[in-house]
Amino acid sequence: MDMKAARPVIIAGNWKMNTTPASAGALASEIARATEVDGVTRVLCPPFVALAAVRDALAGTGVEVGAQNVHAEVAGAYTGEVSAQMLAGLASWAIVGHSERRRDQGESDELIGRKLVRCVEQGLRPILCVGEQLEEREAGNAEDTVRVQLERATAEVRRQGSELPPDLVVAYEPVWAIGTGRTARGSDAAVMAQLIRLVLDESGIEGGAENVPVLYGGSVTSAAIDEFLAEPDIDGALVGGASLKVDEMAGIVARAGMTASARRQTKDGAA
Ligand code: PEP
Repeated sequence: MDMKAARPVIIAGNWKMNTTPASAGALASEIARATEVDGVTRVLCPPFVALAAVRDALAGTGVEVGAQNVHAEVAGAYTGEVSAQMLAGLASWAIVGHSERRRDQGESDELIGRKLVRCVEQGLRPILCVGEQLEEREAGNAEDTVRVQLERATAEVRRQGSELPPDLVVAYEPVWAIGTGRTARGSDAAVMAQLIRLVLDESGIEGGAENVPVLYGGSVTSAAIDEFLAEPDIDGALVGGASLKVDEMAGIVARAGMTASARRQTKDGAA
């Protein structure tokens, strides 16, 4: 069986610190209506306070709900924080290790590893974000940076007596491409996707890394996504700014739908 073709095509929207409980439901409904396309897993990640509104708005649409973060501890004296178990009934996915949190909250790979463990415990499907800074790419260290991020997070998962979740999704998000209007090259992102699966295989992920979807993130728009979807190693996108625009999401998911259908045909032809 062609395992590559078996991976889902996923479009996840990260709304970051945008929308309110009053506005998020309507936006989610509009996006759900505008993106009814076969074969694409759609996920919207609103702010915590809008999760309930978005969950209600998306009921019955097939669009799934994700949180933008979880705390690394189970519970305790962490004022203002949100644990994985608090998300029960609100979200089924969680973004972990987003570069804006690595930058603004100083999140380390070890802390991110503990967040992965919390996701496993609560059955949340994690989207683990990795990616290099511009200086690291310019110095030729992009691949080493991503390798180390994955190895350290994985080692911490093991240190906690846990395993990497078999339903893990990894988002390769070069930091210099996030919110800048600048995208990576599709071919560079594909090389990184191959490296990500190599490192996950070395770490012994259950089911094998060939089954792990790898997304690209960084200034994805409906005009820019084709270059990434054209790469068989890339399985969709984590979309920030453009995920707040209904027309953009419609265009992005439509293109992802064409990719999903083409990959299905390749798989059926090969079977
Ligand atoms: C993101 O938030 O993960 C992201 C990639 O943002 P943007 O699409 O706005 O660059």
